[in-house]
Amino acid sequence: MTGLNEKTILITGASSGIGEATVRELAGTGAKLFIGARRGDRLKALADELGETVAWRELDVTDAASFQAFVDAAEDRFGRIDVLINNAGIMPLSPLAALKRDEWTRMIDVNIHGVLNGIASVLPRFTAQRSGHVVNVASIGAHLVVPTGAVYCATKYAVWAITEGLRQEQDDIRATIISPGVVATELGNDITDPQVADALKVWRRKSLTPDAIARAIRYALEQPEGVDVNEVIVRPTAAG
Ligand code: NDP
Repeated sequence: MTGLNEKTILITGASSGIGEATVRELAGTGAKLFIGARRGDRLKALADELGETVAWRELDVTDAASFQAFVDAAEDRFGRIDVLINNAGIMPLSPLAALKRDEWTRMIDVNIHGVLNGIASVLPRFTAQRSGHVVNVASIGAHLVVPTGAVYCATKYAVWAITEGLRQEQDDIRATIISPGVVATELGNDITDPQVADALKVWRRKSLTPDAIARAIRYALEQPEGVDVNEVIVRPTAAG
C-alpha cells in the first residue's frame, strides 16, 4: 500500500454524503485535502473540525473558470496536486414523458460537464509531472438503466466512458471509476415528482452508508503507482 501522507487530494461534492465521508476517511491518512462544493458553510465546518490538512473553497463544477480557480488555489495552498476525486453529482429522477428539460440539462451540466471541467483543470499538470490520479464517482447506473433514470443513467454511462477513455490515452495517469449502488445520502432530495420520490424511499430500504464508498476510494488511492484500479462496484446487501 502507498502512504497518502505526501499527497494532495482534491474532492468535489464534499459538503455532504459520499464526498464528506471520503474527506473524513482520507483525513486520517495525513494527506492534504482540498475540498469543494457550493455550500461553503458546510465545507468550512468540516475543515474546521478536521484541522489544517483540510482546506476548502466554494466550487461550482459546471463553471470551467470556477473549477480552474479551485485547482489553482489547491496548488497555491499545498504546493502540488496528486489526485482529483470528481464526486459532485445530482439525481433529479423523472420519467422522460414528464419532459423536465431543465432537470435533464442540470444533470448533464453537473454530472458530465462537471467531470470534464475537472479533468481539463488537472490534466496539463498531470501530464507535465507524468503522474496523477483521477477518480470519477459514476454509479451502478453506469451499467444498467432503471425507469425514471434514463437521463441520470446516461450521464453516468458518460462518466464511465470518459474515465475509460482517459485511462486508455494516458499511460502515466491513473483513472478509476467508483460505481456505488444505493447509498443513503441527500442525493435525490431535489426530485420534483412525488411518486418518484416515494420510489426512492423504497430503494433506500436496502442501502449503504457513505463510508462504504469512502473506503472503496481509499483502496484505489492506496495502491502502488504502478497499479490502476480501473473500477470498483459496491452494492448493499440486506444486512446494511
Ligand atoms: P449528495 O447529494 O449527498 O452529495 C452531492 C454533492 O455534490 C454535494 O456535496 C453537492 O454540494 C455537490 N454538488 C452538486 N452540484 C454541484 C455543483 N454544481 N458544483 C459543485 N458541487 C456540486 O449525494 P451523494 O453523496 O450520494 O452523491 C455523490 C456522488 O455519488 C454523485 O456523483 C452521485 O451521482 C453518486 N452516486 C450516489 C449514489 C447514491 O445512492 N447516493 C449511488 C451511485 C452514485 P453543494 O450542493 O454544496 O454544491
